[in-house]
Amino acid sequence: MAKLFISDLHLSATRPEMVKAFLAFLEQQATRVEALFILGDLFDQWLGDDDETDPHPVVVASLARLTASGVAVSLLHGNHDFLLGKQFAARTGCELLPDATVIEVHGTSVLIMHGDTLCTDDIAYQALRAQVRDGANQARFLALPLPMRAAEADSLRAASQQQSRLKKQTIMDTNPSAVERTMREHGVMHLIHGHTHRPAIHSFYIGDQQATRIVLGDWYRQPHALVWNETGYRVIDAPLQNTVS
Ligand code: MN
Repeated sequence: MAKLFISDLHLSATRPEMVKAFLAFLEQQATRVEALFILGDLFDQWLGDDDETDPHPVVVASLARLTASGVAVSLLHGNHDFLLGKQFAARTGCELLPDATVIEVHGTSVLIMHGDTLCTDDIAYQALRAQVRDGANQARFLALPLPMRAAEADSLRAASQQQSRLKKQTIMDTNPSAVERTMREHGVMHLIHGHTHRPAIHSFYIGDQQATRIVLGDWYRQPHALVWNETGYRVIDAPLQNTVS
């Protein structure tokens, strides 16, 4: 049976057509596979497990139906939804995996990550990441009333968008040395990640072994998924057709 990989859906009330597409994807495509892996940024914003902003409730309900039907759904944190927590996991039946987890896919060891930690050239981003992922800072943030969290998130986002506009595109991409080091550390020749919104399948060598890095695309304009079954993997850019088997 197949496994499905998706990333960077950035579900938000501002793109209702993609929310609809995702709900259809869960009901039609995802019910036919044994496992679905969501590699971060499922939601464009998640301010804590009490954040019931549209479209969160419908997505939570739909994920719960999928896991209840027997499909294993695993999820990594992205940089937009890293506050997805235990209550979200309990309500949806999804398993929250640590960012950078090695899984077995039809006999191949595959490292799955969100991908932002590979963008080591972006020093300012990595500093911000360390700050917002700090446990004490997260506890402080989560203790605030929801409107205050929203205001703080808005100002962080505005500052980060302003910074991004000034950065060179290459700075915001993955660093090849960081990719190789991470793959060596985990002992894998296959990596799947998202985050950069630059879908591609990169082949390169680590030592004398061929390595593969699959970058998943975002869902800004159309659904995008990777399906991996007994015969291999392929990208499906139009997963709303009946292409998963
Ligand atoms: Mn991201």
